[in-house]
Amino acid sequence: MRLESFVRGSWMSPGQELAEIRSAVTSDVVAEVASGGLDMGEVLAYARQVGGPNLRRLTFHQRAELLKALAIYLSERKEQLYKISYQTGTTRSDNFIDVDGGIGTLFVYASKGRRELPNTTFLIDGAVEPLSKGGSFVGQHVMAPMHGVAVHINAFNFPCWGMLEKLAPAILAGVPVVTKPATITSYVAHALVRMIAESRILPEGALQCIIGSTGDLFDHLTCQDVVSFTGSADTAQKLQRHPVIARESVRFIAERDSLNAAILAPDAVPGTPEFDLFIKEVAKEMTVKAGQKCTAIRRAIAPNTHVPAVIEALRERLSRVTVGNPELENVRMGPVVGLGQRRDVLAQVAKLRSEADIVVGDPENFAVEGADRERGAFIPPLLLHCPDPIRATNVHSVEAFGPVCTVMGYDGLDQGIALANRGDGSLVASIYTYDPAVASDLVFGVGAFHGRLVLIDRDCAKEQTGHGSPMPHMVHGGPGRAGGGEELGGMRGVHHYMQRTALQGSPAMLSRVTQSWIKGAPMVQEGRHPFRYHFEDLAIGQTFISKERTITLEDIEHFAAFTGDTFYAHMSEEATKDHPFFPGRVAHGYLLLSFAAGLFVDPDLGPVLANYGLDSLRFIKPVQPGETIKVRLTAKSKSPRNEQYGEVRWDVEITTDKDETVATYDLLTMNAVRP
Ligand code: NDP
Repeated sequence: MRLESFVRGSWMSPGQELAEIRSAVTSDVVAEVASGGLDMGEVLAYARQVGGPNLRRLTFHQRAELLKALAIYLSERKEQLYKISYQTGTTRSDNFIDVDGGIGTLFVYASKGRRELPNTTFLIDGAVEPLSKGGSFVGQHVMAPMHGVAVHINAFNFPCWGMLEKLAPAILAGVPVVTKPATITSYVAHALVRMIAESRILPEGALQCIIGSTGDLFDHLTCQDVVSFTGSADTAQKLQRHPVIARESVRFIAERDSLNAAILAPDAVPGTPEFDLFIKEVAKEMTVKAGQKCTAIRRAIAPNTHVPAVIEALRERLSRVTVGNPELENVRMGPVVGLGQRRDVLAQVAKLRSEADIVVGDPENFAVEGADRERGAFIPPLLLHCPDPIRATNVHSVEAFGPVCTVMGYDGLDQGIALANRGDGSLVASIYTYDPAVASDLVFGVGAFHGRLVLIDRDCAKEQTGHGSPMPHMVHGGPGRAGGGEELGGMRGVHHYMQRTALQGSPAMLSRVTQSWIKGAPMVQEGRHPFRYHFEDLAIGQTFISKERTITLEDIEHFAAFTGDTFYAHMSEEATKDHPFFPGRVAHGYLLLSFAAGLFVDPDLGPVLANYGLDSLRFIKPVQPGETIKVRLTAKSKSPRNEQYGEVRWDVEITTDKDETVATYDLLTMNAVRP
């Protein structure tokens, strides 16, 4: 199979320099890659000129729908991806992490995109900032998609997840993707891109894929492009130093080597659930994907007193791991990705052995099930023990990217924290304790050096998602050695592909530009109540100002008795004496909200289908019996949902008859579109 690049809407492989890709299991050739011959300037230009405009004209919800459709399409074909992946050395459960994990990320972004983003093409970021005394000059941040290309360079270990976890936030943001899989597993990525291309779900130009070398692609980058890289620290540094990256200030997100730790706390003595969970997680992280995970546990940090028990328990667990042909059901761990990778891992293990002894596993002597030990890139799980981790350096800096982990002991929590932080920045650490005070010390002791911390104990044991699994909702990345980047994290990952711009101007102008009414901008007051308008007929700024209502003591007493809310501030003049906020008995905030609804609601059957929430509620001035209130209701923004209805956000301000602000909030309604 000769792999082709998918560029400018076609499959092509013009390069002459051929390289063979071999099976991790048998060393047979499984694919050929031809590098060179592609005009990278044209690849980027096509993304900018075709993919970018095609995506930017869609709203966030429309892009989210594309991701969902893609996720469904790929789900129906995932068995094909599993099948191809076995040659990379992965078992069925490894493939589940890569393939289903990637598809799951698409689903999460599709759903979050629809729930958390408006149905528009840009984002309003934060509140309006008053910048002048008179209110005629205000500020508002907005975020819009970059006009360039998301260049995604992926590591070999997750050909599917790696591509999709980077693709989902970029597409949702509205930025076209050029993906470059690692060559050694590129036949899996190639199959995935073929599926995506065949589905025709993404608009033209939204995805291109370069197989083999990226050639002079970096020479053509501009300030509108984003590079997101996963792989080794060496390559990351080389690429980050590219003159165009510095000259054009190209955003560069890096996720690279990481000496992740699992930290057993002193309270988690042998026999506790937390001790068992620690053992289970360390063994799992060593063997899943044969330890080739950027998040895998490389350092198992335990109190010195527990170290012998830790080694014994891990020996017992690891002895049950069958190494061999990953297609066989009884095989728990396949080979690493290739013979070169095996050489690299063993060379790194040799460096570790200058400071640590192998206590479980023998790279020269181990059984392999259903495959030839010499032809496949097999390594058994190797557990090391470092007796002096304080003075050691390699165990904190050498990443053996295979089924390898080093146990190290500590005395006292401070020493444990210091050891964890010797990784000089990691993607993740997991903490095993049932003592919240210890957990807190560990979290704030190691937090600054870690992108993610997983607190694993008996309460979450059954449902916890694992030390090594980045969740699309949560940030993936870490400081220092881990690259200093951040991916995923829900909408945070989308923002990497958008430019934040601070807008300053008059409320009238900014309201029109942002399509969101700002206090001080003109209000539209027509004869009809705004609740009488269908979704598309309602103008932004359309306002209703209510009649007035005086709050009586009877109202307060009645509300208290009716709801059961007899909080002292509403009931007793005496109790509010010298109170820092209340000058005497005051009306319930919820009573004011209820009266506000009574004042602004237009009760007859009409286009407003439902009130579905309040946002940003603030009670500003307490109201005493005898005071009079009124309400202003202004259509602030609209977000279409489907063919039947859309969401309207209303700016609501309750004031006294003397125009003092009592409360402000956003009211959300669903309004019917015209029949
Ligand atoms: P590399 O850094 O060699 O490669 C990562 C990606 O960068 C691949 O797609 C590779 O493509 C590409 N690449 C390499 N050189 C260039 C270049 N000059 N210009 C553009 N792209 C380039 O990492 P590997 O995947 O080969 O893994 C090597 C080691 O990195 C592992 O053994 C492990 O130690 C570490 N690693 C760490 C990870 C982490 O997240 N912590 C993840 C994966 C690896 P190509 O394959 O074509 O060379």
